[in-house]
Amino acid sequence: MTEWEAVIGLETHVELQTNSKMFCGCPVDFGDDPNTSVCPVCLALPGALPVPNEDAIEGILSIGDALNCTLTEHSLFYRKNYFYPDLPKNYQISQYTFPLCVDGRLEVDVDGEATTVGITRVHMEEDTGKSTHVGEGGRIHGADHTLLDFNRAGVPLVEVVTEPDIRSPEQARAYGMELQRIVRALGVSDARLEEGSMRFDANISVRPAGTEVLGTRTEVKNVNSLRSMQRAIAFEIERQIEVLESSGSIHQETRHWDEAAGVTRPGRTKEESEDYRYFQDPDLLPLQIDEAWRDRVVERRPELPAAKRARYRALGADQRTAELLVDAGDLAALYEGAVERGANARTVGIWLTGEVVRYLRSAGTDVGDTGLTAESLAELASMTDAGELSATAAKDVLAAVLAGEGAPRAVAEDRDLLQISDRSAIETEVAAVLDQHPEALERIRDGDTKPIGFLVGQVMRATGGKADPRMVQELIRGEANG
Ligand code: ADP
Ligand code: MG
Ligand code: ZN
Repeated sequence: MTEWEAVIGLETHVELQTNSKMFCGCPVDFGDDPNTSVCPVCLALPGALPVPNEDAIEGILSIGDALNCTLTEHSLFYRKNYFYPDLPKNYQISQYTFPLCVDGRLEVDVDGEATTVGITRVHMEEDTGKSTHVGEGGRIHGADHTLLDFNRAGVPLVEVVTEPDIRSPEQARAYGMELQRIVRALGVSDARLEEGSMRFDANISVRPAGTEVLGTRTEVKNVNSLRSMQRAIAFEIERQIEVLESSGSIHQETRHWDEAAGVTRPGRTKEESEDYRYFQDPDLLPLQIDEAWRDRVVERRPELPAAKRARYRALGADQRTAELLVDAGDLAALYEGAVERGANARTVGIWLTGEVVRYLRSAGTDVGDTGLTAESLAELASMTDAGELSATAAKDVLAAVLAGEGAPRAVAEDRDLLQISDRSAIETEVAAVLDQHPEALERIRDGDTKPIGFLVGQVMRATGGKADPRMVQELIRGEANG
């Protein structure tokens, strides 16, 4: 029985949210009526000439920088030639040799294990228009007619291509998530798979484990969530193994993921790059990116998700908490604000990812619409640290603060939840209880620890549950040993 190894390479397209399109001044706005955000350049009217968008170039360089790429000094624009009704020029301006960014890598955590995925290139493309096939099924086959909307034509697109370094569907998904986080942290795209502003093509092959030569790959398109990507890859690996084990062979082809059926189906046979007749676009000069520009991009790099997670871990958050906080930007801001105000980072992390997330989910609201602020979190944390609130009471107060009932101290006072943490007040109560139960104290002194719980309970009852139980226990033990 052959053991098989999966080999996966991902191509990811990201739509950049620039003000204008890649080569013309038309606004990038997806809410517009069809064919209103168009001009001679993006409609490819005769004589119209493209002018590169500086912001878009910079956005691409920032992605390359975040992926540890070399930002190239000289870059070229190419024409990728093919006909499609939503591509009015009959070619797409893209890059081929000399892309903007090359030779990067991304660290990806898979089930707590660090892996590295090589990044081959990050390059510029422009998006096509949008075809809507009207008729049965929404596919071109069997459609009555097709509607064309060119608002998307010429929107800046980035393509990020990985080395065939990925070995499992889980790793592919983890890579996709991390790339999405990075693009969002850079602020260059909302990277939403459902809306197509981030799209994955997965190249998949299998080979006998331990061998070097790459098997023939198929390319799966049409996945519009990270979960579908993971499922599609897993399906495709199984399918290829089955074909090979029954003495068949894999054809290089494009396949489509059918979400409902949970299978990939063959699409067109795959073009080779020769088929596109790539050649340098004579309308566009070579792009020269000087050192000062590259330096500017690097200097502007924001704190990336991995660095942020590491910083939160150093503050005492566990891996999962750090991940959750970094992925929920508004919670991360509260976390940082509370910690800056001196709150215990661990406690605050646990509340935010536990109680607060649960509350937000059940109330269907954002944290910004609740009464929770960095100040109130810090106040609550300091009250808990000082023993003024029990863990249970702190949760109640937190819920009330979230519901907008006021600041933590006010809520705790209103609800009579404050613990007695004043040492001398508790000492008095402890002394009274010990007076009433000398036999229990004797048994503790004889080495029996059971009566401790009983005595703590008596003190708690005498104080209406408001003594800090940790302090009560400590005082009782002190009496017994002293
Ligand atoms: P294109 O799809 O445009 O022909 P490439 O040939 O550069 O582009 O490959 C695209 C992606 O496919 C890359 O992510 C690459 O790592 C991956 N890839 C190439 N060969 C294989 C293979 N045999 N198995 C799995 N992935 C592969
Ligand atoms: Mg491809
Ligand atoms: Zn235009």
